[in-house]
Amino acid sequence: GERNAAVRTPDRRLQRWYRDKIRDYKNRQRALAETRDKKAVSLNGEAITLQANVELPDDLRAARKFGCAGIGLYRTEFMFMGRERLPSEEEQYRAYRNVVLRMRGMPITIRTLDLGADKKVDSGRRDAPLPVNPALGLRAVRLCLQEHDLFHTQLKAILRAAYGAEVRIMIPMLCATHEIRQVKARIALAQASLERRRARFARHVPVGAMIEVPAAAINAAAFARHCDFLSIGTNDLIQYTLAIDRMDDSVNYLYDPLHPAVLRLIKATLDAARRADIPVSMCGEMAGDTRYTRLLLGMGLREFSMQPSSVLQVKEVIAATDIDGVGALTDKILGADDSDAMHDYLRQLNLMTA
Ligand code: PEP
Ligand code: MG
Repeated sequence: GERNAAVRTPDRRLQRWYRDKIRDYKNRQRALAETRDKKAVSLNGEAITLQANVELPDDLRAARKFGCAGIGLYRTEFMFMGRERLPSEEEQYRAYRNVVLRMRGMPITIRTLDLGADKKVDSGRRDAPLPVNPALGLRAVRLCLQEHDLFHTQLKAILRAAYGAEVRIMIPMLCATHEIRQVKARIALAQASLERRRARFARHVPVGAMIEVPAAAINAAAFARHCDFLSIGTNDLIQYTLAIDRMDDSVNYLYDPLHPAVLRLIKATLDAARRADIPVSMCGEMAGDTRYTRLLLGMGLREFSMQPSSVLQVKEVIAATDIDGVGALTDKILGADDSDAMHDYLRQLNLMTA
């Protein structure tokens, strides 16, 4: 009756509004598709690396679709969650090798198991009492260094998958450099065991640290000396720096990537890597948020890893940024001691045109 008639003959203004929307959307899709096939280069000609964070096989399709230059963070724990028995070395090897093959020779950074806290496991010890502060407990590399077989199995699978490929190993949640020494000793053990089996495996795999605990960021120079690369995990770095649980909605109003303390830790990490002349990337959510792209470029970041669907937008911002021209406002943002002033500088930075 009446209502159908209304839908069949929408008024002209509404029709025009929808037509404009559809046209804008199509233009935008076309522009993004063109962006996909271009390299990420800033307005002043600097090449920037944009890689993908992946967890599930579908993410690989997205990483290819959005033209990512490799995988900057492969979260391996998803294969371990929601199941009774741990995946075998063979199952893990097949999964990791699949990523290597599907990315066709592009560089892949595989993160060793980051279980615990927000990444719950079903397998493992059921009898253990629940910790009061799981985010501060036996998680990630701490768990791996205690669960010898768990780690040994994963390292063997990664080393086999890395054979003849550009694969790096990344360690989550490090807080002390002796943990890296232990991880390297475990890698050597895994290699020796593969050697005895006469398996094919990678003999030289770069080992890097995730910088996501404030202690590691403050001490980034030492981590840079012990590692082949660093990668800043802002999700946890913000959680631990500001003492707010990233899973607790009641405090997420305090979750602030622009907090001066967070920015200083990021800057300290970037500077330490530059001085040590090793690569440094960022793989937390902050890396894929276009509000921060110019600021991060100004701070010296050149390698970003993010969810694949963010790559095109970040690439567009990079293409419109003269990195030599953003230094002054970047310094003002880093030096601001008042949040309003800081946000004002950031707005100016993001509105800058060449
Ligand atoms: C991070 O902490 O920033 C990160 C990339 O790792 P995850 O989100 O998996 O903890
Ligand atoms: Mg993390």
